[in-house]
Amino acid sequence: MKIHEYQAKNILREYNITVPRGEVATTPEMAREIAASLKTRVVVKAQIHAGGRGKGGGVRLAASPEEAFEAAKGIIGMNLVTHQTGPEGKLVRQVLVEEAPEIEKELYLGLVVDRSRERECMVYMASEAGGMDIEEIARTAPEKIVKAAVHPAIGFSPFQARKIAYGLGLDKSLSAQFSNIARSLHRLFVEKDASLVEINPLVITADGNLMAVDTKLNFDDDGLFRHPEIKALRDETEEEPLEVEAVNTGVNYIKLDGNVGCMVNGAGLAMTTMDLIKLAGGEPANFLDVGGGASPEQIEKAFRILTSDPKVKAILVNIFGGILRCDRVATGVVEAASKIKKKLPMVVRLQGTNVEEGRKILQESDLTFEVADELYEAAQKAVELSKR
Ligand code: GDP
Ligand code: MN
Repeated sequence: MKIHEYQAKNILREYNITVPRGEVATTPEMAREIAASLKTRVVVKAQIHAGGRGKGGGVRLAASPEEAFEAAKGIIGMNLVTHQTGPEGKLVRQVLVEEAPEIEKELYLGLVVDRSRERECMVYMASEAGGMDIEEIARTAPEKIVKAAVHPAIGFSPFQARKIAYGLGLDKSLSAQFSNIARSLHRLFVEKDASLVEINPLVITADGNLMAVDTKLNFDDDGLFRHPEIKALRDETEEEPLEVEAVNTGVNYIKLDGNVGCMVNGAGLAMTTMDLIKLAGGEPANFLDVGGGASPEQIEKAFRILTSDPKVKAILVNIFGGILRCDRVATGVVEAASKIKKKLPMVVRLQGTNVEEGRKILQESDLTFEVADELYEAAQKAVELSKR
C-alpha cells in the first residue's frame, strides 16, 4: 500500500526524523493561509501516489503567501504527468505547503528488501547524488550508490551507519544526526511492516543540518491487519478503481494491459493461464485469483470486475475444482453474466470437484460459451476470440 508524502512525513516525525513544518491544503486560499502562518518561503507540492513530481511541474517554490496561492491554484486540479504516472497522468486533489529550507546538498537514502539469492535481506541504499535524477544515477553510475546489507538476526548496527556516512562523504559534524536517521528508518521499516522507505532528497541545509525534504513509504499489504493506523491512511482515489473493488470483495485482482480477461482459482494456476495466453499469441487483461473458498457471490463480483475493464474482448474461465466446487463457480458466472449487459465471448474450462453439476448449470443457462477440456486449448480459443 502506498501513502501520500504528507502522511509519510507525519510518520517520520514520530520517529524523530526532522522534516519541514507544513500542512495540507485543498484550496489555493488554504495554501495562502498556511504559507502566512509559516512566516517563511514555502514550497507547494502536489500530493499524488507517484514520484517525479518536480520534473512534471508539481513542486513549486513560493516566496510569499500570494505566490503560494498562485502555485496552489496552478497545481490543484491539474493532471500531473510524471514518469511514474504513465501518460494518462493523475489528478491532483491536494497540495502540501511547507517551509522551504536553503538546500546545500541533496542526498538519497533508502531501505529496501533485496530478494536476490545472495542477499535475501534488507539493504540500505545511499547516494551523494540525491534529488531528482537518482534513477538515472542508478543506471549510468551505479558506483555512486553505497549499499549496506542488514542482517535479519543481528539487525541494524551503528558501524553500518558510519560506513554509509563515510561513503556519502559526510562531514563528521553530521555523522551523529545521520546515524539517528538511519537507525530510525530501520526501526520504522520493521515496526510498521514497510516494503520500502525512501528519503529523496535527504538534504544538508545551509545551517548544517539534515532534513527529509521528500519521503516515500510503501507498506506490505499482508502486514496491514497489524497496523490499523496505517490502513486508515489509504486513499482509494489514488488506486486503480477495479483493484479497490477487488480488495473489498476479497479476491486477488491485478489489472494488466491485454484484452483476454481471466478468472482462475489459485495463484499458480492463474500465472500458468497467463503464460499460456501469451504462448498462444495473446495478452492477458488481468491476473485474477478467486481463491479456494469463494462463494457464488464472490465469483459474481469477480466476474463483474473482470468485465468492467473496457479493454477485455474475451473471457477465459479456468477452474480446477478442489475445495472450490465447479457448481459454485458456474452459479456465480451465470448470475453475473445475466446481470451484465455487455456480452463477451467466453471460453470455460472446468475440471475437478462437481464438474458435471457445473457444466449442467452452464448448459442450462442462456449463456453462450465455448467449452475446452485442455488448458492450452482453452487459451488458444480465448485468444482467437479476442482477436475477432
Ligand atoms: P519528486 O520530484 O516527486 O521526488 O518531488 P521532491 O519533493 O523530491 O521535489 C523535487 C525537487 O524539488 C527536490 O529534489 C528539490 O530540488 C526541490 N525541492 C523540493 N522541496 C524543496 C524545498 O523545500 N526547498 C528547495 N530549495 N527545493 C526543494
Ligand atoms: Mn523526491
